[in-house]
Amino acid sequence: MLNIVIFGAPGSGKGTQSEKIVDKYGINHISTGDVLRAEIKNGTELGKTAKAYIDQGQLIPDELMIDILASVFDSFEDSKGVIFDGFPRTIAQAEALKKMLAKREQGVSVMIDLDVPEEELMTRLIKRGKDSGRADDNEETIKKRLVVYHSQTSPLIDWYKKEGQYRHIKGQGELEEIFAEVCKAVDCAIKE
Ligand code: AMP
Repeated sequence: MLNIVIFGAPGSGKGTQSEKIVDKYGINHISTGDVLRAEIKNGTELGKTAKAYIDQGQLIPDELMIDILASVFDSFEDSKGVIFDGFPRTIAQAEALKKMLAKREQGVSVMIDLDVPEEELMTRLIKRGKDSGRADDNEETIKKRLVVYHSQTSPLIDWYKKEGQYRHIKGQGELEEIFAEVCKAVDCAIKE
């Protein structure tokens, strides 16, 4: 099983690179942000809870997120692997993911960190907000999300370094060049 964690700050290109990985390697994609936005659109209880956090640029509580992740993961049949996009975002989530995969005799193959400078993230997210109308892509919420990223999510870099699964990728430049680097990291993980 090829289990990839695609990591990075909001606007680092996780979603875009995930789609290309899915096409090339034929694995399943879990975007926790997409799952939550679908719940909001469908007006479910979970969606209502999630919206309150998302609008504030805050993270959904770990226990809730971990349950959602496990149920989406187990819904895949004959899976060759999964790309986790937007999960984990806290150390507790990373530990839960490790445990969940171990229970299924699997593990994370590689964690790919798309590293993009802060000014570029701001520019990309403001543009995305205008193009897609995503409610949390406004300047005030973006700033809050970046603070949350630095305080709660970026510690995962050291966590995955310790696990021996960390790969740094420069996430700025031509899309195809970035994808080529991502593929190198994935191919390396496949060979290991
Ligand atoms: P994303 O589309 O990945 O940028 O996620 C949008 C928003 O959904 C985040 O700002 C969080 O409020 C929430 N969210 C997505 N994934 C997670 C997660 N793994 N843990 C907590 N909150 C999440």
